[in-house]
Amino acid sequence: MDMEDMQTATTLFAVSFRQRDEIEEILASTGAGAGWRAAVFGDAEAIGSRFLASHAAVALIDARGALDEGLAAVRALGAPVATNGAALLVLVSRGDVEAIREFFDAGATQFLVSPASEGELVQALRFAGRHAARASGGTIDRRGIPGASRYDRETGEARRWIVGRIAEDRPVAVVLVALSRLDIVNAAHGRPAVDGLIEAAVRRTETVAREAIGVEAMVARLGGSEFVLVIEASGAAVTAAITALDAALARPFTVAYARAVLGCRFGVAQRQPGDDAAALLRRASEALAEAKASDGSVLHVALPDGVAPIDALAIDLHHAIERDEIELRWQPQIEVASGKITGVEALARWSHRTLGPLGADTLFDAADRADLGIALSDHIQRLVLARAVAWPEALGTLRVSLNLTAADITRPGFAALFLARVDESGFPRGRLTVEITETGLIEDLASASALLAELRGAGCRVAIDDFGTGYSSLAYLKSLPLDYVKIDKSLVRDIDGGARDRVVVAGAITMARSLGMVVVAEGVETPAQLELLAAAGCSLYQGFLVSEAVTEPALLELMMRE
Ligand code: C2E
Ligand code: CA
Ligand code: CA
Repeated sequence: MDMEDMQTATTLFAVSFRQRDEIEEILASTGAGAGWRAAVFGDAEAIGSRFLASHAAVALIDARGALDEGLAAVRALGAPVATNGAALLVLVSRGDVEAIREFFDAGATQFLVSPASEGELVQALRFAGRHAARASGGTIDRRGIPGASRYDRETGEARRWIVGRIAEDRPVAVVLVALSRLDIVNAAHGRPAVDGLIEAAVRRTETVAREAIGVEAMVARLGGSEFVLVIEASGAAVTAAITALDAALARPFTVAYARAVLGCRFGVAQRQPGDDAAALLRRASEALAEAKASDGSVLHVALPDGVAPIDALAIDLHHAIERDEIELRWQPQIEVASGKITGVEALARWSHRTLGPLGADTLFDAADRADLGIALSDHIQRLVLARAVAWPEALGTLRVSLNLTAADITRPGFAALFLARVDESGFPRGRLTVEITETGLIEDLASASALLAELRGAGCRVAIDDFGTGYSSLAYLKSLPLDYVKIDKSLVRDIDGGARDRVVVAGAITMARSLGMVVVAEGVETPAQLELLAAAGCSLYQGFLVSEAVTEPALLELMMRE
């Protein structure tokens, strides 16, 4: 069977590396005919998410003649199986019975030694099915299955903890943690060192839960190198918890007098209305499967249907800055009189590992949500300066415009900090413009005015951004030391509309000019708009009419064409 068959629920999810045909045959002739719906795969790719998508209650891993692959598959399935209360049956060759212990450690719930008759296999599958039914019913009883008891007990406790919190309508977040790079430790120091490491990681997590998070929490091992942290928290508190945990687990561990740095992946889900424990754990498992599948992505947050992904992005953003996922685009600014590109505005983009390119608005919303507005803005400022200072000669005369956030401006001592940053980069102050929105300025006019004066006194120029939205009061412009006024694209859009709109925009332009400011129009998309803006006295413009914000090579090409 193939992926298409997986749309409907399957009761059995099977992976066979060497004897796929044989397994399919057995299941078709006996098991599947007698009530099993089975999906069989010949490889272990993206196995966690495939298993979850199948909604199967039983997973069968045929590890005959494929011990390593089988073990890797069981490790990948350990957490989804445990959290879903499913069963994981492993088929091993007689020569490999020593490996059974390892399979149990990795999360297998039962095994069958080959060669076994078809009847025995079907019997084992039935037994696994009953086991799964019990486990997912909340009462986990795997006594008699060697090696699995501790994890079962802990998983059961975690489930009951969640069930209890949900019953009391309290917030619950599930953080599944999968440790990686253990194979290196295993190779160097052996299995006991690996076990010791996992225990140490669990203890660190318990400490974080107790001390750093400061909310009700519990940690349970799931078998293999995975464990779960459940906390009574939601929203920003969960973000904070993950950040603390990430930091704690990133610190080196000591194994047999050597230092080991582990990798870890997180799958996170928060309780939504209508969730039961199983739904919550399933979403966390799916999130972990995705975090494992997308290489480089350490964290994946389950998104409940219909909920904006912004909280999830807020968490991702912590890593985005470190991993250089924030990129810059440059939008040309054109002089109306000459038609030449005289400057560029730096605009940020987020090249998200799994979601692809995201726009500046999403980026800054996520930053606000994560309380990372200042960190992000700092990062972008450094990036803009570092890139622009390294430009080739052909771009060396362009002015560079940089957007500041409202939080930047109200930050004590920002002007000095910013100027030091500029000087450190080597980019000339005189070629730099900072853009500030009205909203950012109006909150504290007196200190905003002092800040702008300081920046201008130091040789930078200052632009007021998004003019015409928000307060749009020309009166306070008079009290501010400004060089440019940027007419917002919403006004520009109106200018070739009715006569009244035109009068309003033209009036704003005239007043700004009478105060000695240079007027820049943004969002210019048509020649008609440009013509009217030029007639009204605009000196500079930017917009799709000439170019969107582009990469550095594309900008270079635009300049060469001139
Ligand atoms: P903004 O500073 O007003 O930037 C202009 C926005 O209009 C940009 O959107 C730009 O891509 C878009 N735009 C440019 N030409 C046209 C056009 O002809 N038509 C239309 N419809 N749109 C046009 P973007 O890049 O998504 O940025 C949105 C906002 O995010 C920016 O508005 C700015 O407030 C903020 N932002 C972007 N990059 C940064 C940054 O590096 N730092 C800070 N602090 N804020 C940034
Ligand atoms: Ca701007
Ligand atoms: Ca704007």
